Amino acid sequence: MTKALQACYVTLIILLLSFPLTTLADKHVNFIDMDHEIYLEPWLSYQKLIGLQLEAKSYDELHYLWWLLRKAQAENLIYFYDDFSRSVKQANNLVTTSTPLAIQARLSLFQGLIERRQGDYNRSQESLAKALIQAKEAQLSSLYVYGKQELAYTKTLTELFETSLIDIQEAYVEAFALKDQFLIASINETYGAIYGYLQDYKKSIEYYQRALEAYQNLQYPAHIAEAIYGLASTYRYWGKYQLAIEYFEKYQQQIAYTPNSNISFFSAYGIGMTLAEQGDCLAAINVIDKALTLKGIVDYNAELYKRKASCLITLGRFEEAEKALDSAALIFADIPELIGTNWQLEVLKISAELTHARGEYDIGYSMLEQYYRQYTELLLKNSSKRLLKVRASLEVERQKIAQALTAEHLQVESLELEKQQSNTTQDIYFTVFITCGSLIVLIVIIAQYRSNRKMHLLTIKDPLSGLFNRRYIFDYLDKAALADASEKIQMSIILIDIDDFKKINDKYGHPVGDDVICQVAEIGSEIFRQDDIFGRIGGEEFMCILPRTDVTTAKKIAERFLSAINQSTVVKGHQDNVTVSIGIATLSAQCRDINQLYINADQALYQAKHFGKNQIKIF
Ligand code: GH3
Ligand code: MG
Ligand code: MG
Repeated sequence: MTKALQACYVTLIILLLSFPLTTLADKHVNFIDMDHEIYLEPWLSYQKLIGLQLEAKSYDELHYLWWLLRKAQAENLIYFYDDFSRSVKQANNLVTTSTPLAIQARLSLFQGLIERRQGDYNRSQESLAKALIQAKEAQLSSLYVYGKQELAYTKTLTELFETSLIDIQEAYVEAFALKDQFLIASINETYGAIYGYLQDYKKSIEYYQRALEAYQNLQYPAHIAEAIYGLASTYRYWGKYQLAIEYFEKYQQQIAYTPNSNISFFSAYGIGMTLAEQGDCLAAINVIDKALTLKGIVDYNAELYKRKASCLITLGRFEEAEKALDSAALIFADIPELIGTNWQLEVLKISAELTHARGEYDIGYSMLEQYYRQYTELLLKNSSKRLLKVRASLEVERQKIAQALTAEHLQVESLELEKQQSNTTQDIYFTVFITCGSLIVLIVIIAQYRSNRKMHLLTIKDPLSGLFNRRYIFDYLDKAALADASEKIQMSIILIDIDDFKKINDKYGHPVGDDVICQVAEIGSEIFRQDDIFGRIGGEEFMCILPRTDVTTAKKIAERFLSAINQSTVVKGHQDNVTVSIGIATLSAQCRDINQLYINADQALYQAKHFGKNQIKIF
């Protein structure tokens, strides 16, 4: 057995042995890394955690605490606020000094959320601050930043805008450093809320939209719903009632991720408030009453009562209006943090309106005066120069960060562009290479073709005269001999021989003789027709094949040629004429043999020579 095989066996045995252990370990669900799962599927996660309830009792304390914590987290996202509070309380009771800070920090954060929901903003701030310390100690940076953001939001609710802006700013810088999309989204959402409260609605919408986009990317349904709700609320405060109602309805659709009907309170609240502010009082009262039957948040109820009161005043239903106002005042009395805020002050304003509507003008007037005095103080507090300065400087810093982000994006883009460009360059190189390659191939082909053509021409042309050579002329005749009888009809040949050429050579030299040959060739080329095949078949002998030409025409052409020769000074630079003798033969009933045709023409030529040269003889 080889070593490798041994190793395989050992691995297999280890795997088999460890199998039962693995399944056992799997039974203990890992609750530590559940954030994403819960955010993604809050309702499903909740059901899954509830399903483990019995089993959880057998967990060790630490594991049980994690289970409880995750259950609480899911309950919070599906708006099971009572269950959430209970779970957190139960978990807090189990916490000892040895409990990991990761659990303690989360519990403190949840505690802060519960207190905030109860309107106990001071305690909420304390709990959140505690969560921050614990998270920092445990080096849980994401949790720390998340807590900071929650703290900032809580401060906003008590109109501590100045410090909340600083907190949120710090959280933003840290989240940016962590490059955590979820954290950045949560912070943007809180920015949306803060700017909403500061009545900078445009900015508020901008930040909420950013948060919404990020949550949509992450596909976290509860968070998407929250961001939509934020948008709806800002539109409502902005007085853009149509958009507000549209977004509240979107929210109503979005909350379908959980079957918990209590959440409908928030859409009913939003729509009720918007309708009231829009002046659609009857519809508003309807929706508000419905919202008040649902389980909501206590200070939201106070808002509903106020709005309902206003509506009832317009409708002249003063008794009911007074009742509604009392309910609102009672709620505010229970939340000391809200005393002195715009929300609480508004009860005074509406009461003044009611008093006025009842005809008690003096009291109404003094109440209204009181309201405006307090409200002005509040406004002055919120828009203090220092706050404006803080806001301005924070915006600058944010812009810097945004610019850094943009720069980073640009860098990435430019890198991608570079990559694209290098791809394009490669493409160009490739195209050039292909084109050049094709061109080279084409050139080679053309050269080859030309050289072949040249070779071919060399085989059929006479280099001296440029006429067809002897081989071509006789090949042509051979092929013609093989052709159909019909095509052979009326073929004539003209055989030409320069007279006394030897003398020319002797008298003027061979080169002049050559030139004479060329001159005769040129004259022949001009006289003979396109279809005639004119060639040099020997030293000073030429033949012209005239297809489809009878003897009469052949003779006429020969005569023309002879006279052209006679009229030209063929011997260049010398006053000497050259003559030729010509023999003609034609295919006829007597002669149907092409081979015989040449012999006949030669015989005719001989006759021409014999009878004195410079003449034509027909066979
Ligand atoms: P005839 O009138 O009876 O035809 O007399 P001729 O002198 O033309 O006939 P012959 O056949 O006796 O002479 C032909 C001469 O042509 C012989 C040869 O030297 C010359 N010749 C053959 N080929 C060429 C050539 O390519 N160039 C030159 N310059 N002379 C050639
Ligand atoms: Mg000759
Ligand atoms: Mg001759």
